[in-house]
Amino acid sequence: MPSTQPQLDPRLLAANLSGFHYIDGALARPVAGGKLDVHFPATMEVIGQVAAGDAADIAIAVAAAKAAQSGWAAMRPRDRGKLVAACGARLLAHVEELARLTALETGKAIRTESRVEAGVVADVFVYYGGLAGEVKGETVPFHPDQIVYTVNEPIGVVGAIIPWNVPMLLMALKVAPALVAGNAVVVKSSEWAPFGVLRIAQLLGELLPKGVFNVVGGDGPSAGAPLVEHADVGKVTFTGSVPTGRLIARAAAEKLIPATLELGGKSPMLVYADADFDAVVAGAVASMRFTRQGQSCTAASRILVERSRLRAFVDALRARVDQLVIGDPLDEATDIGTIIAPRQMATVQRYLAIGKAIPGAVWHECGQLRTDARHVDGLYVRPHIFEGLDNDSQLAREEIFGPVTVVIPFDTHEEAIAMANDSDYGLSATVWTKDLGRALDAVQRLQAGFVQVNQNLVVQPQLSYGGWKHSGIGKEADLAAMTHHFMRQKTVLLRVR
Ligand code: ADP
Repeated sequence: MPSTQPQLDPRLLAANLSGFHYIDGALARPVAGGKLDVHFPATMEVIGQVAAGDAADIAIAVAAAKAAQSGWAAMRPRDRGKLVAACGARLLAHVEELARLTALETGKAIRTESRVEAGVVADVFVYYGGLAGEVKGETVPFHPDQIVYTVNEPIGVVGAIIPWNVPMLLMALKVAPALVAGNAVVVKSSEWAPFGVLRIAQLLGELLPKGVFNVVGGDGPSAGAPLVEHADVGKVTFTGSVPTGRLIARAAAEKLIPATLELGGKSPMLVYADADFDAVVAGAVASMRFTRQGQSCTAASRILVERSRLRAFVDALRARVDQLVIGDPLDEATDIGTIIAPRQMATVQRYLAIGKAIPGAVWHECGQLRTDARHVDGLYVRPHIFEGLDNDSQLAREEIFGPVTVVIPFDTHEEAIAMANDSDYGLSATVWTKDLGRALDAVQRLQAGFVQVNQNLVVQPQLSYGGWKHSGIGKEADLAAMTHHFMRQKTVLLRVR
């Protein structure tokens, strides 16, 4: 059994967590005993196995959650919040081990990505813990003879299905509010990156009542689908791809339960000629999430640049990305690690081939790839900046989830807004200009759920986050996300005369 002392050797930690779910306050073996290999994508060495959960494991986890939920919901809300905040403090003491573990299983560079993720995860628990008393209802001035008010109550058992790109953070954005609201949770972790989430469940299991936070491993059809379909799951919250989101929405509709869906993006970055040039170039590197290999729903994978600055912008962006070091995710000197898994690598390579075959396409392959013989099988891709493609091209319309961006010129503000909105997606957008009127006009007209001017911060607690159009349904990360998406409202009418 792994101890809950910080364990800084990620391979040892992964080996110790290998083959387990976390159910009812303890590590648990899968009923059928199945396991799936988990790899370090920088070497493709097997670092352990994820328990291959199925409907039997889900049934046990949901039963544990259901049994625990009523006692959890009966606590004073602020006492519940204090426990969740204490979970955040516990995670803060484990940031380094979680950073190393997630770097090992996802291939995300420790300094630029994995340590940042681990820190924000702790912050999400602290943030939501403080909001426990704030899930207030309203009084309704309905009639002088009556007192009418609304009250928000927990839903019961929440099923949370999470992806592999930022697995711990996306888990936290679901689990922390669901728990604070008085629900119990069953998480289906990602089959490619299960250990960070499992470790968190184990660490928090010492603080939380048994059964309120469970993690089941396994693949989507075998473990995810039965979680959504389970009769005692009253709410599902999902982050992942559009096709899987549709399947989950259909299954939730069949049961008539609410589903929050955080799906893909093809987020535009609008660069006007008057923008602060240095800030724009640094912003493009950050916006495109190059240090996460572009494996981000909010990646600025369409950069729309006013034509007069196109050449200068592309040259400066190339030069900047060329300075980034691509290599061992666990090395502090590395800026960019690896793609997560061979299937995702194949997807990225397929899109690169499609882009390169488009007549007129010009591409720049950037970054310093530094790997030794040990890393010869690693899933490394150098960032690619494409020019010469228009907004209708496949590379500008479809989400790649890799380090590939397309730079497209525009001549007028109207054209920029039209191109930005001409997408199935509507997750995030950024506008770069010193012209306040133009910035505000763009902010009003852009069809996206998360819009920033002259910066691109990552998702964080307190900022409502969620997509429009095919990018999803519902919001995460703030107080309203907790009351609207993890609670149900009761209207109460009291006749006083
Ligand atoms: P990707 O294609 O990038 O792996 P997915 O949307 O398929 O993205 O995966 C996100 C999460 O959804 C993962 O935890 C995965 O196991 C899960 N998943 C995949 N298919 C299903 C499904 N049919 N039902 C429920 N969960 C699923």
